[in-house]
Amino acid sequence: MIDIKNISKWYGSFQVLTDCTTTIKKGEVVVVCGPSGSGKSTLIKTVNALEPFQKGDIVVDGISLSDPKTNLPKLRSRVGMVFQHFELFPHLSVTENLTLAQIKVLGRSKDDAIVRGLKMLERVGLSAHKDKFPGQLSGGQQQRVAIARALSMDPMVMLFDEPTSALDPEMVGEVLDVMVKLAEEGMTMMCVTHEMGFAKKVSNRVIFMDAGKIIEDCNKDSFFGNADERSPRAKDFLSKIL
Ligand code: ADP
Ligand code: MG
Repeated sequence: MIDIKNISKWYGSFQVLTDCTTTIKKGEVVVVCGPSGSGKSTLIKTVNALEPFQKGDIVVDGISLSDPKTNLPKLRSRVGMVFQHFELFPHLSVTENLTLAQIKVLGRSKDDAIVRGLKMLERVGLSAHKDKFPGQLSGGQQQRVAIARALSMDPMVMLFDEPTSALDPEMVGEVLDVMVKLAEEGMTMMCVTHEMGFAKKVSNRVIFMDAGKIIEDCNKDSFFGNADERSPRAKDFLSKIL
């Protein structure tokens, strides 16, 4: 589904990503972790073509991001993205937040968009809040609306960038529950998160990044299981967060 091939990226003279390569298959859940500043957000944004890269290529569902003929806005519309800050439109109701891009980007009728959006709102357990504004919801609820909004676009893959790290602790669980459910339903997911409970429960693979490089890319059991095989940096990182 996603083929990241030897990606390197610079911000000016600063190399933020160095020769990153990995593949995410359909239905796989891959967790990306690593210290702050290691390039996790940058990597995940390149997948969505929100950040350009200077070397290598990324192929999403058979479409090359570096091919000038690729319609990036169209591709992006099929890649769901959920950020740390919920980024809902504050002046629009929950339902309007759910339907805007469906109507503007996918060209759906308002009625179709509402049906689809409310179905996704139900999936995240927030049907009762459809007429509220984001400011009337808790942080956890806003993040669940952001997930429902992304799902309303029928994404072929969902990217998450630390979706729970800005939340009060008591709200983390409700967002993780939604993500676990999505994973169990077979959604292809690439998740930057330090929630190792989530990684242990539903991920297939864990990628560990440090200083712009993918240091480890292995299945969950070997990442959490065999400390002897782990790189010293990953060991050190895990010892700090587990
Ligand atoms: P992470 O998500 O792992 O914390 P980021 O991908 O956000 O890491 O950032 C990786 C590195 O790139 C950091 O050193 C950060 O300061 C730098 N960086 C991020 N965005 C920019 C930018 N727009 N311009 C210059 N440097 C940036
Ligand atoms: Mg980040």
